[in-house]
Amino acid sequence: MGRIAYVNGRFVPHGEAVVHIEDRGYQLADAVYEVWALFDGKLADPEGHFARLERSLGELRIAMPMTRAALTLVLKETVRRNRVREGLLYLQVSRGVAKRDHAFPNPPVRPAVVMTVSAVDRVASEARAARGVGVVTTPENRWGRCDIKTVGLLPNALAKQKAREAGAVEAWFVDELGFVTEGASSNAWIVDAEGRLRTRDTNANILRGVTRNSLLDVIRREGMEVDERPFTPAEAVAAKEAFITGAGTLVLPVIAVDGKPVGEGRAGPVAKKLRRLYIEQARATAI
Ligand code: PLP
Repeated sequence: MGRIAYVNGRFVPHGEAVVHIEDRGYQLADAVYEVWALFDGKLADPEGHFARLERSLGELRIAMPMTRAALTLVLKETVRRNRVREGLLYLQVSRGVAKRDHAFPNPPVRPAVVMTVSAVDRVASEARAARGVGVVTTPENRWGRCDIKTVGLLPNALAKQKAREAGAVEAWFVDELGFVTEGASSNAWIVDAEGRLRTRDTNANILRGVTRNSLLDVIRREGMEVDERPFTPAEAVAAKEAFITGAGTLVLPVIAVDGKPVGEGRAGPVAKKLRRLYIEQARATAI
């Protein structure tokens, strides 16, 4: 059976799923999105993703397209129709379709809603996590509201392409003070030279990663300490370990920054343990 997409109230074959050419998401990136990891067909970290969706929409003054309960039902139905157990669920909500004009349509139009599901090969993902991945650094060049999860991802796409061309998996943005802000699609962490976990605080211009937040719960439950403070690429190279978090990568060890090995240049024990604990918690709390 082929992939099925949800588009504005209808389930359609993926290859036939289309939106209007004057959808403001398409023309102006006037849209937000969320991505859930799927474990055994269930949505991971549901509360965190719903809360962030509502916040992103609220910041842009786009109405919730339906109640949270209705949205949950439709999201789950989209997953069911795709028969995917391990994968990713993508939701996009745009301000809607209107004659092209930068200012908001007045009166407001109905938000446009799209959902897609893709399968993930967990065996391949675990093998990659066991090996670890490389990241490259790139100057921070995004707008000042990276806390809103908008589809305006051109700098992220260019950064990711730079990583791909260097044989790396992620790009870390570095601000004008020389500190890593976050990855193109993940949050950045190290286990510093003193053995303490460190990740940038979310008062900075970064996305409040849901995986980051759930992992903080895991870390505190384990009685481990974490310092929410930025680090430089040089500190990452001098660190014992580094890793990234996100719905797509979960907790993924980083073994090189700009080609320089982090610690011993191998996936470290702390990142491996946190990956296992995060996945256990996410599986247990998925809905
Ligand atoms: N930072 C950026 C820029 C992202 O795009 C993402 C996820 O796509 C993340 C961080 C990680 O967020 P989450 O853990 O909610 O997936």
